[in-house]
Amino acid sequence: MTSQTKAQINSQANSDRPFPHLLSPLDLGFTQLRNRVLMGSMHTGLEEEKSGFEKLAAFYEARAKGGVGLIVTGGISPNFRGRVSPFGGELSKWWHVKKHKAVTAAVHKYPTKICLQLLHTGRYGFHPFSVSASKIKSPINPFKPKALSERQIWKTINDFAKSSKLAQDAGYDGVEIMGSEGYLINQFSCKRTNHRTDSWGGSIENRMRFGVEAVKATRARVGEKFIIIFRLSMIDLVDGGNTWDEVITMAKAIEAAGATIINTGIGWHEARVPTIATSVPRAAFTWVTEKLMGEVNIPLVSTNRINTPEVAEQVLASGQSDMVSMARPFLADAEFVNKAAANKSDEINTCIGCNQACLDHVFKQQRASCLVNPQACYETELTFDKTSKAKTIAVIGAGPAGLAFSCYAAERGHKVELFDAGSEIGGQFNFAKQIPGKEEFYETLRYFRKQLQLLNVKVTLNSKQTAESLTSQNFDEIVVATGISPRTPPISGIDNPMVLSYLDVLRDHKPVGKRVAIIGAGGIGFDVAEYLAEEDSLTKQPEKWLEEWGIDKSYQQGGALTKDHTHSKANREIHLMQRKTTKVGAGLGKTTGWIHRSTLKNQGVNMIPGVEYSKITDNELHFLINGKEHTLAVDNVIVCAGQDPNKSLYQQLTDVRQNVHLIGGADVALELDAKRAIRQGAELAARI
Ligand code: FAD
Ligand code: NAP
Ligand code: SF4
Repeated sequence: MTSQTKAQINSQANSDRPFPHLLSPLDLGFTQLRNRVLMGSMHTGLEEEKSGFEKLAAFYEARAKGGVGLIVTGGISPNFRGRVSPFGGELSKWWHVKKHKAVTAAVHKYPTKICLQLLHTGRYGFHPFSVSASKIKSPINPFKPKALSERQIWKTINDFAKSSKLAQDAGYDGVEIMGSEGYLINQFSCKRTNHRTDSWGGSIENRMRFGVEAVKATRARVGEKFIIIFRLSMIDLVDGGNTWDEVITMAKAIEAAGATIINTGIGWHEARVPTIATSVPRAAFTWVTEKLMGEVNIPLVSTNRINTPEVAEQVLASGQSDMVSMARPFLADAEFVNKAAANKSDEINTCIGCNQACLDHVFKQQRASCLVNPQACYETELTFDKTSKAKTIAVIGAGPAGLAFSCYAAERGHKVELFDAGSEIGGQFNFAKQIPGKEEFYETLRYFRKQLQLLNVKVTLNSKQTAESLTSQNFDEIVVATGISPRTPPISGIDNPMVLSYLDVLRDHKPVGKRVAIIGAGGIGFDVAEYLAEEDSLTKQPEKWLEEWGIDKSYQQGGALTKDHTHSKANREIHLMQRKTTKVGAGLGKTTGWIHRSTLKNQGVNMIPGVEYSKITDNELHFLINGKEHTLAVDNVIVCAGQDPNKSLYQQLTDVRQNVHLIGGADVALELDAKRAIRQGAELAARI
């Protein structure tokens, strides 16, 4: 830690303020940040939408109003070839500047700084014009890049500088030059992708030259009073990545070239190690930044899976970095910093690391949002204005759909009463939270519990509602959010006592034998397999988790992966089956499905597609594959074969009264997830 930073933090730490390290200002010499919170770069999809910049301005303004110290925008390319996709954002011409002014003006209504991220994707560009250090295709992109010539290298460096000047003209306080996650500058800095034999390849001095020259050229163009953040890949997590000595060499050169702050980059996109998913322990990678503390004199930022003010405070207080970067937590709650400052961290809507509405959307070219906060990136479209006509509303079912509806409707001023047959709120989230690696789901339930209390929603538990019980009360509106029932497939012997449903396992904790066949390999089938395979969740054991994924903190090899790594095996024999002939798990989330597949494969779970179930006997499951008979000797068959909607209450109510609404799984169970349930609840609350 720089001595200046240490002194500042220590003086603040003595005060009685909550989170004194996190909320202490950071003096950059020519400018000051109001706290240590950097909102990390996130592409939202609004960048490419028609009139998207107005919505983007509202999105960033809400986070500035919410107290963030320094915002970094989603990645914008400095030129045509560096764009993410054919219509990806670019800042290279004077006429691109105007729309950015709307963003900077909105943010500068508050004492928040904002930097534009300059992202040249290199071989990750999803178009045929991509370029890189060498002509080597990425395993995650069908397009093969062209190798840049020396002249094109200098031109690209100049494009970084030119784009930074345009960012300055647009009112940004600085830029972040993206040098990590396997993008162009990272492609130059590592041997994995840089096979050049000229002065831009070979030694680390040559390989890092592209990034260093980009910083130098930028500094020369924008002057001294402009923030330059460099996002340095400090752990590549791929073969052919940099050694720790090379990381230090590059960090020093980047500082000398004129960077103001170094941000941490963790892993390439093509790395086969999870870096931000919910199963990654909180702050699992802050040790990486800590290793660099003291090697340079400019502030360092740690990142990845920091999602509460408590964790962020701990990272700073223990001297692991000078600032913390959080990105998705600001999709989940724009008011994160203000709530922390008011000592109300229990009111923060915590990012659960699911990626379902943010990264998964962006990778499918859809607008990002947030599973737990459907208003994210819809700030101007999904609003919860105070109602002029308060109504009494009964909500039946306290699963995600009913909870979301109740809170947003109460926020608008309606008088809401929420009923659930169960003894606690949460519906199926109470089963999800038990899955190893899904412990963050507890946070969503904590958030809703607190909101119900703050918004004076009357909650009645252990109370199964019927059409009679509801019609005898005088509610203006009734919202039915009764969820789903697990499907029982018509297989001969399905009523055998050795057959269990996922509710028997996750809700009733019935004993499960050592040999198990799971019927159905959707999200729940995978979750049940992980629950049965893992004795102990690794999310609370970061060292064990790093070991399990083959991460070597001593960087014996470039990229910090352990050589000849072996995984621990499941403590049961598990067969995960589906009727479809496609790859098992193909329908899971775009950015997380591979993690679930790898986890189970590493544990030795047997995945069987193309199954036709024949019959179940006392200790066997019989099935056909391509017409050929197979038998598995098992102690239990566990059914995870999808769900059907619980519609009967809705149907009975609509027979006798009006103003009845249906949301969540009770409406449509097919492909229902909590993202859809919560958004549907929120949208109904916005218009009721
Ligand atoms: P539910 O959650 O089913 O809630 C319905 C509620 O209604 C229940 O609490 C029930 O007690 C109550 N109820 C029913 N009838 C009555 C009545 N007559 N009177 C009073 N109360 C009644 N989704 C994701 O998006 N991401 C995930 O990672 C994920 N993981 C999951 C893991 C597991 C193991 C499971 C089981 C589900 C998972 N899901 C996940 C799915 C997600 O939980 C559901 O999509 C979501 O809970 C549906 O919400 P809902 O409010 O419609 O219904
Ligand atoms: P699902 O994803 O629809 O999977 C149901 C599984 O059951 C499929 O594998 C299906 O495959 C099989 N199946 C369906 N009908 C069957 C039948 N009649 N007989 C035998 N097998 C049958 O549903 P789910 O696993 O119950 O999950 C419910 C929802 O929760 C999902 O939509 C998911 O989005 C959400 N969820 C998400 C996550 C996550 O991590 N994001 C985790 C858990 C749940 P075949 O038809 O090929 O046999
Ligand atoms: Fe976090 Fe999930 Fe929201 Fe993304 S969608 S911000 S991962 S809670």
